[in-house]
Amino acid sequence: MNTSQAAPTGASNLVTAHALPSYLQADNLGPWGIYLQQVDRVVPYLGNLARWAETLKRPKRALIVDVPIQLDNGTVAHFEGYRVQHNTSRGPGKGGVRFHQDVTLSEVMALSAWMSIKNAAVNVPFGGAKGGIRVDPKTLSIGELERVTRRYTSEIGIIIGPTKDIPAPDVNTNEKVMAWMMDTYSMNEGATATGVVTGKPVDLGGSLGRREATGRGVFTVGCEAARHIGLDISKARVAVQGFGNVGGIAAKLFAQAGSKVVAVQDHGGTIFRESGLDVTALLAHVAHVGSVKGYADTDVMPDDAFWGVACDIMIPAALEGQITAANAGQIQARMVIEGANGPTTPQADDILHDRNVLVLPDVIANAGGVTVSYFEWVQDFSSFFWSEDEINERLVRIMKDAFGAVWQVAQDNQVSLRTATFIVACKRILHSREMRGLYP
Ligand code: NAD
Repeated sequence: MNTSQAAPTGASNLVTAHALPSYLQADNLGPWGIYLQQVDRVVPYLGNLARWAETLKRPKRALIVDVPIQLDNGTVAHFEGYRVQHNTSRGPGKGGVRFHQDVTLSEVMALSAWMSIKNAAVNVPFGGAKGGIRVDPKTLSIGELERVTRRYTSEIGIIIGPTKDIPAPDVNTNEKVMAWMMDTYSMNEGATATGVVTGKPVDLGGSLGRREATGRGVFTVGCEAARHIGLDISKARVAVQGFGNVGGIAAKLFAQAGSKVVAVQDHGGTIFRESGLDVTALLAHVAHVGSVKGYADTDVMPDDAFWGVACDIMIPAALEGQITAANAGQIQARMVIEGANGPTTPQADDILHDRNVLVLPDVIANAGGVTVSYFEWVQDFSSFFWSEDEINERLVRIMKDAFGAVWQVAQDNQVSLRTATFIVACKRILHSREMRGLYP
């Protein structure tokens, strides 16, 4: 359970690694530096499109906004907010909004760029964007949270919109925050604009299947990869870090397919059962208690031992920077499926690659969420809503096609799946760039 240190709040911090959570200070690169390194790795594979590669290394647009609100005690507090549109060559910007005291412009820039890659990798017609406010929402009352959300939405209102840039939930933001964002934007426009955000409540134009979409995508690509490496899912042993939206749903789907979920770790602790945990009962326990801690019928396991557990599939689905140079050598799994964003540090990635552990990178493995966000946006535009079965069927088809294309590129070029995903995505983005030409 690596946790990040709270960084001092205050002045904006451009691309320096200072005041970043510890996992992002690896190699002093900072998140934007890590992203640039990933782009550099794929440039040799881009052929003639390489001449446009510089496009990928510069966000199209970055907005820093002051978010002043009146606190419940009558004083005024100022928070710093960001919205970055990394690339819009293939369509409007798309990416979540994060409320966290450690948010920095460097982090938001990198997250927006990874959204460009993810959206292109699953071939949905979006560019990449991301936003955030440097605030600890746990210190705010519900009224203060609403005022922060509404003022931030108003400030970034000059660059977002259903055909320009569509925010969504991310760390510490949820359906309720999306409803406030949609309402604020709509009030300013003078017309209800459901398509301005995704991840909304279903009654406000949200999509069925969105909540389960990321976990379902994790499961789908996991099955595809297992087939390629001759791993029988019905006999696989699975370990999951994070038992929330992504990890909990993925664990349920693997268990339904016959896998044994042998270990689960969340913020409360680690539980283990050699013969496999009852995932349905564990989900009910977590819904009731808030953590896997205290679940009966398990063997105790120290948190540190989690990464070394004997399993075939390991699913980090909690936080960034969990698989590091310090624990990558312990991982027994044949396959790591990145449910979380950025759970593996670049050094750990290399260690796993050298040890022949197949890593299914976040930019494809957790793209199920944005895929159903795309469905939500399409449904909002047409005001015609699909059944959950239709949504799941289309999601699985998109995930399988996307993974198949990435797998082929990895085989053809003998590169990791992360580099292959970047190759597929960067080619799509730069091909669009080339066809559109440069304005003026
Ligand atoms: P969530 O809040 O529903 O669940 C997070 C889980 O992580 C919880 O079980 C929590 O207990 C656990 N956790 C928190 N701190 C931990 C620690 N120190 N050690 C171990 N476990 C810890 O969040 P989520 O929506 O499931 O998102 C998880 C990850 O997946 C995040 O990185 C998120 O950015 C990424 N992601 C989510 C979606 C989505 O659609 N929800 C889409 C793409 C990526």
